[in-house]
Amino acid sequence: MKGELLEIMKITDILNSKKVTLSYEVFPPKAGTPFEPVINAVDKLCSDKPDFMSVTYGAGGGTSSNTVKIASHVQNDLGVTALAHLTCLSSTREQVSSVIDEMKANGIENILALRGDIPKDGNLPVGEHYTYAYELVKEIKSRGDFCIGGACYPEGHTECAHQDEDIKNLKLKVDSGVDFLTTQMFFDNNVLYNFLYKIREQGITVPVIAGIMPVTNGKQIERICQLSGTYLPTRFKAIVDKFGDNPEAMKQAGIAYATEQIIDLVANGVKGIHIYTMNKPDIADSIKRNLSYIIGDNQ
Ligand code: FAD
Repeated sequence: MKGELLEIMKITDILNSKKVTLSYEVFPPKAGTPFEPVINAVDKLCSDKPDFMSVTYGAGGGTSSNTVKIASHVQNDLGVTALAHLTCLSSTREQVSSVIDEMKANGIENILALRGDIPKDGNLPVGEHYTYAYELVKEIKSRGDFCIGGACYPEGHTECAHQDEDIKNLKLKVDSGVDFLTTQMFFDNNVLYNFLYKIREQGITVPVIAGIMPVTNGKQIERICQLSGTYLPTRFKAIVDKFGDNPEAMKQAGIAYATEQIIDLVANGVKGIHIYTMNKPDIADSIKRNLSYIIGDNQ
C-alpha cells in the first residue's frame, strides 16, 4: 500500500465528512515482544481502509515509543489517519511532554487523551504528574493544533459511585478541549441511548463514537466485564454460556452480535462506530463485509 498516501485528516473532519464512520483499533507490542506480528496485523487491518486507526498506549507508559512507531507506520506508510492514545497518570509531566513532542514530530494530529488506570501497587511516578485526563487535555491543547479525543463510560466509570457525578466530570473534560468522545464497550444499545440523552441534557454536544467489542473469547469477556462493570444482557450471557468453550462458534456468534449491535446503532442515528479489533484483521473484515451496504462506499 506504500505510495497510495491519503490526506491525513483530523478525526472531527472525518466525522463531519461522512454519513457513518468505521474505525479500528490495534495495540502495540508489549515490552520484549516482537514487532512483526503486530505490523502484519496492522497492515491487514489498514488494507480494509478504516476511516481511522486507534493505537493504544501501554499502561504505565513504558512502551510509549511503540505507540508512536505504530501510529506513524499507520499514517506515514499506510496512508490511514492514526489516533494515538496517550495516558498520563503513571508518567511525569516531563515524560508526557516528550511523548507529545514525538507525536508531533511524526505528524500525528489526533490524540486520545486518557488518564490511565491506577496502578495495582498504587505507585505513582516520583515528580509532578497529572491526576485526571482533563488536565492532559489542556496540556495537549496548549501544545499545538491537535484534534483531541476523550474516553466516556455509558455505564459510568468504575471509580465513580454516581453517574451524574461522572457526567459532571466528563463535562469538565470536554470543556477543557475535547473534540470528540469514544465510549467504553457496551452490549446493550439502550445503555448508550440513555447515556447520550443524559450527556446532551448536560450540554455535552461533541460527537460520540460508539465502541463495539466483538466477543470471541467467552471466558475473557466475563472477566473484562467484571472489571469494567459492563452490563451483560441475558441474551448475550446465553451466547457466552452456550458457545464460550467452542472458539469457532464463539467467534461466529461474536461477529454476528457485534454486527447486529452496529446495524441497530446506525439505524438509530449513531454516526461513529469504533470496533475494538484487538489486532484481529479476520474479525474486523467479517464485520465490515456484513455491513457493506450499511456503512462505507455503498451507503
Ligand atoms: P478521567 O476522565 O480522568 O476519569 C477517571 C475517573 O476520575 C472517573 O471516575 C471520573 O469521574 C473521575 N474524575 C475525572 N475528573 C475528575 C475531577 N476533576 N474530580 C474528581 N473526579 C474526577 N487505558 C490505557 O492504559 N491505554 C489505552 O490506550 C486506553 N484506551 C482507552 C480507550 C477508551 C475508548 C476507553 C474508554 C478507555 C481506555 N483506557 C486506556 C482505559 C482508561 O485509561 C481507564 O478507563 C481510566 O481508568 C480512566 O481514564 P479516563 O481518561 O477516562 O480518566
